[in-house]
Amino acid sequence: MLKRILYATDLSEKSLVILNSLPEFKCLGVKDFVILRVINLTRILGVARGIDIESYIREIEKESMPKLEEIAKEIERVGYRAKVYPPPAGEPVSEIVRVAEEEKVDMIVMGSRGRSSLKAILLGSTAEGVVRRAKIPVMVFKDHTPSVFSKLLYSHDLSEKAEKLGSYVKFIAKACNSSVVVAHILEKGEVLEEDRLDEIERDFRGEGIDVKVVVGEGNPPKEIVKIAEIENATCIFVGRSGKGLRSILGSTADFIIRYSKVPVFVA
Ligand code: AMP
Repeated sequence: MLKRILYATDLSEKSLVILNSLPEFKCLGVKDFVILRVINLTRILGVARGIDIESYIREIEKESMPKLEEIAKEIERVGYRAKVYPPPAGEPVSEIVRVAEEEKVDMIVMGSRGRSSLKAILLGSTAEGVVRRAKIPVMVFKDHTPSVFSKLLYSHDLSEKAEKLGSYVKFIAKACNSSVVVAHILEKGEVLEEDRLDEIERDFRGEGIDVKVVVGEGNPPKEIVKIAEIENATCIFVGRSGKGLRSILGSTADFIIRYSKVPVFVA
């Protein structure tokens, strides 16, 4: 299910945090990593007058390659196959999504700086962009979390999308012997569907998974991040943003990616 992974790195500290969690991908059956650094041209295009783009690209390429090769060696030392994708030049989100398709990977892992810059506040971050545009699961890492797959928080709004996300939660929980917390948040005016939550709990238990259901009330993304902290969850699972107004204003996934301290798996 998750055999081949694209690791997108800008070589920043935040994106290198992922390397500490590499051994934990073993239980998922991961075999291959493709390592990608995009030479970010959006950074220089605004001030490009007078800059020789070709030599800028060559310079970044020369500077990145030894570091990318070193990362590949580290990945191989852990026991996976690793391939450095020749750094393409362009806009990071589009290039990451394009290479993921070309390389037929099953999942993208990446870091997130959060929304510190004005550009990120206005346009969303690289992680948010990739999550929105990729068709495969994306796992966004924050600070280092030990035992990433030991306690999974599965946010469930009882929608069809959240139901589908459940197949990943189950797969990982069974493969890595994780426990699962199903978090369901009631928004204003919503009625608790106890039967459906019981059914979900029974379903997980039936598969031999240690599961607990937690019901919260209020703003879903805020409550999900809060429950993850209270429950000491090591990874949050959330469905990809929907269409329409909600995705323009920022989805549940965007908020969780921004505020979670633990990795966020979006599918
Ligand atoms: P964000 O802070 O959400 O903009 O996302 C930062 C993360 O996006 C980094 O940790 C990388 O995983 C990925 N990323 C950003 N820029 C690049 C790039 N030029 N090449 C590859 N990955 C990138």
